[in-house]
Amino acid sequence: MAKIIALNWKLNPATEKEARRLALLSDKKGVVLFAPSIFLGSIAEKTTKAALGAQNIFWEQRGAFTGEISASMVKSVGAEWILVGHSERRKYFGETDEVVAKKLEAAARAGLKIILCVGEPWSIRKKGVEEAKKFVARQLKSVPRNVSLIVAYEPVWAIGTGKSDVPEESAAMTKFIKGITGARVLYGGSVQGENILRFLDRQEIDGVLIGGASVNKTELKKIFNQVQRSHLTSQNRNRELRRFQA
Ligand code: PEP
Repeated sequence: MAKIIALNWKLNPATEKEARRLALLSDKKGVVLFAPSIFLGSIAEKTTKAALGAQNIFWEQRGAFTGEISASMVKSVGAEWILVGHSERRKYFGETDEVVAKKLEAAARAGLKIILCVGEPWSIRKKGVEEAKKFVARQLKSVPRNVSLIVAYEPVWAIGTGKSDVPEESAAMTKFIKGITGARVLYGGSVQGENILRFLDRQEIDGVLIGGASVNKTELKKIFNQVQRSHLTSQNRNRELRRFQA
């Protein structure tokens, strides 16, 4: 199965015009673009290959909840994906595992494809990988039964810091998460052009979730060049294999 390149724009860019321009640069197969909801409808008109997603929803479908948006609203503007449980939402908006569970249920009911973010803070990771696994396992308990999703393992200390995880360690965590959930697992945390293949080339890791670098045009170009290179290498590898087996 092809690897997923998920892009999380966070609170960027500043204008709809810039958003449309950035979306065109990222409009590639295998990309899931998590843009600010206000731009989704406009971006949907511009993109043909990338899938679109929202960065947040409320768990209710309608009613007196000023400022919120629902899963069905997201779908109605042409987006199919939702990001749930991002560490910035947990940190700045107080989202607990209970809130995450409600959002997962609402998203699944509306038929959105879900990426659930989990990951430990440095205070836990510095005690060792086993402690980090226990932390992540607790977060995964918020996944309601019968909700199918993709998990993004994003160690909090690696997000936006320029210090990505050691690929071997995130691959081990990926295996651990797969053992609990059976889900596909992405890695996220300071992925850029320079290090993306260290994660994508790990067979256990099913893709990446990229924040800061996804709104930096120079980085974005580097990222797609690297992805293309790795794709060609694997195509050649498969061709060689078929020739050998013939
Ligand atoms: C993210 O926002 O999910 C993320 C991984 O950010 P960054 O790539 O900037 O670390």
